[in-house]
Amino acid sequence: MNLPVRADLVGKAPYGAPQSTTAIALNVNENPYPPSPGLVVSLQAALGAAARTLHRYPDREALDLRADLASYLTGRTGVSLGVEQVWAANGSNEVLQQVLQAFGGPGRTALGFEPSYSMHPILAAGTSTEWVGVLRPPDFVLTADVAIAAVEKHRPDVVFVTTPNNPTGTVTALDVVEAVCAASAGMVIVDEAYAEFSAQPSAVTLLASHPRLVVSRTMSKAFAMAGTRLGYLAASREVVDALRLVRLPYHLSALTQIAARIALAHTGELLATVDAVKAQRDRIVGRLAELGLTTVPTEANFLLFGPFADPAAVWRGLLDRGVLVRDVSSSPGLEGWLRVNAGTEPETSAFLDALADVIA
Ligand code: PMP
Repeated sequence: MNLPVRADLVGKAPYGAPQSTTAIALNVNENPYPPSPGLVVSLQAALGAAARTLHRYPDREALDLRADLASYLTGRTGVSLGVEQVWAANGSNEVLQQVLQAFGGPGRTALGFEPSYSMHPILAAGTSTEWVGVLRPPDFVLTADVAIAAVEKHRPDVVFVTTPNNPTGTVTALDVVEAVCAASAGMVIVDEAYAEFSAQPSAVTLLASHPRLVVSRTMSKAFAMAGTRLGYLAASREVVDALRLVRLPYHLSALTQIAARIALAHTGELLATVDAVKAQRDRIVGRLAELGLTTVPTEANFLLFGPFADPAAVWRGLLDRGVLVRDVSSSPGLEGWLRVNAGTEPETSAFLDALADVIA
């Protein structure tokens, strides 16, 4: 059929990480630990109560949830944030899309340092924002020199800095983020989806001095709430007001808002899994070295490993043994590499055993 799809979308591929109900999924950087029985009971009670008022639209501004997110971020970063500086949407993907709707768009440009999160260019395409991908240095660590040169050359309206970066796991130092802010006339988005796994200070600490800075976060990773679909950002009040121009009315369902608030009330319990996840990640690093493989230094819950002459064959061999990892090897700069996230102890063992078998 010859549908009148927008010309700039013709030939593009959708986001497509494989989903499997049978394999051990270590391919989308989820936290492998499910909610505790106590949290499930709290969620059931809260969602049950919310069900009684589902004939009404939810709070369009999600004020209670945003207040909870502000106090969580304040507690983590020491930066006092008001509810008017925090915004939330259905996953940080939607948060980033809204930022591009408000600050990108036709005739505007967004720039990212690749390899990085594959959704950034897809969100740019969907909002008719021109995408400029600038290659990172070979060790994947973004330096101020590379970043400033790219910003000065392309003068983007939006710059993405992902730290820890997906899929490399590498972090960007705060002074590099500051250099990007200083060099940019446009918006700077620091995507901190994996911040809770990292020892680096948050770019939230730079918000007071950089009015065009946006720091995005998610409850999908360390918070172990990927199914809830809740992402958020911290920025100036003016940035949040601009996002309110493009968001759909009532975009966050009443069920989403209450589930996220219950999860936030259990922050300590949920984030207690972070150390276990990091321990399994470090176990992978150690074992892969024994197997003669290289890993890229990581501060996230995942890592790059390789390089392989035929990464697709290794990916397939792992899947045949019941373990699903991510084949990132077709991205520029990642030829030969695969990505895996840390699982529970048994899941991680299954991956390590399968890999040893595949490369034997
Ligand atoms: N940013 C980065 C760097 C990610 O890796 C991801 C998820 N893979 C996201 C944002 C989006 O996550 P979510 O929409 O679940 O918040």
